[in-house]
Amino acid sequence: MSNTYFPDMEIIPSDLLEKVLSTMDSYQYDSYTQTDVRKALQNERCTIENLGALLSPAAAPYLEEMADKAKRATSRHFGNTVYLFTPLYLSNYCGNNCVYCGFNCRSQIARKKLTMEEIEHEMKIIAASGIEEVLLLTGESNVKSPLTYIGEAVTLGKKYFRNIGLEIYPVNTQEYHYLHECGADYVTVFQETYDTATYQILHCEGRKTCFPYRFHAQERAILGGMRGVGLSALFGLSDFRKEALASALHVYYLQRKYPAAEYSLSCPRIRPANNGQAYDLYPINEKELCQILCAYRIFLPFVGITVSTRENIAFRNGIVKIAATKVSAGVSTGIGDHGSKQRNETVNTGRKESDSYNKSEHRIENTEELQERTGDEQFEIADERSLPRMYQDMVSEGLQPVLNDYLYV
Ligand code: SF4
Repeated sequence: MSNTYFPDMEIIPSDLLEKVLSTMDSYQYDSYTQTDVRKALQNERCTIENLGALLSPAAAPYLEEMADKAKRATSRHFGNTVYLFTPLYLSNYCGNNCVYCGFNCRSQIARKKLTMEEIEHEMKIIAASGIEEVLLLTGESNVKSPLTYIGEAVTLGKKYFRNIGLEIYPVNTQEYHYLHECGADYVTVFQETYDTATYQILHCEGRKTCFPYRFHAQERAILGGMRGVGLSALFGLSDFRKEALASALHVYYLQRKYPAAEYSLSCPRIRPANNGQAYDLYPINEKELCQILCAYRIFLPFVGITVSTRENIAFRNGIVKIAATKVSAGVSTGIGDHGSKQRNETVNTGRKESDSYNKSEHRIENTEELQERTGDEQFEIADERSLPRMYQDMVSEGLQPVLNDYLYV
């Protein structure tokens, strides 16, 4: 593992990295038996040992029982709600070289960084669809997308959305504090892989080479005042059972250290990048993904679980009834794409909109001038449903779609 911090990177005192990696390294999933799995399913409280059993190959024949238990936990803690949000890509400039990603600094792709005017235009389009939570993403370049740029975008976002999440390059505590002051609510940082040897091979240039700085991003975000944090491995880069164990433990130990924060886990599987690169080194099928998500829910009953448009419609419709609590809708992974893909659909929630977030306020100007050129997409998506379509589908599945669950007083 590269432990080399860049001079400006903050080092915080924490024993989480050691705890997660040592448990993951000693995890022998082939040693678990069906008796261990049955015991894990019978236990009221799922221990780390039980989690190991539920993620093991021995649990495969028990997927139905796992799904039943996960479903009961989800409905006990979240009812039948499912949260909807939309990601907005601000820039695809990146200073890192992750060999599996189409945005990496060596990729010959069309680069674009939205101006504030373009960002506002995109936000108006997204807000007009009815969405109240947006996730702002950038490639990881603190030169092309400096903190002030992201802060300005967040401030702008507060005019249109109630909740703002960030998926940007990891920063120091004080910088998270600044972004929180601008209006950001939560931060997601994907570790990509907890396998330190693989991490070093796949992340060969840029600030991302420093494994521990990335690992401690969630702690710094919480210390900087963020309400919530999210994380995950990117499944496909290394042994998925170990990656899932490490991701769950990362949240577990954070939760014990900072019980007041909100946590969420994702489950991204690697998708083909738009530059033709395919790095699905350790393929994981849908059944195995379902096993992971059920194990997450049983082990961490209060934690949000997000399923992105990397997964197809059938999988997403099914998993929200078992373990997932949050899905994206109206997704476009290109830069400045919402304008060009403008759908002119608005969700009908059947309720009165609040005054300050009235959709009709968000007048959308002619897009042509603002959308001269869009930047390339990061990866292909498998579910292209718009927000209204997703909203309706969730209702049809017997779920209650939620656009916002947080009120500022
Ligand atoms: S995964 Fe993120 S950090 Fe890595 S190249 Fe892609 S955009 Fe950059």
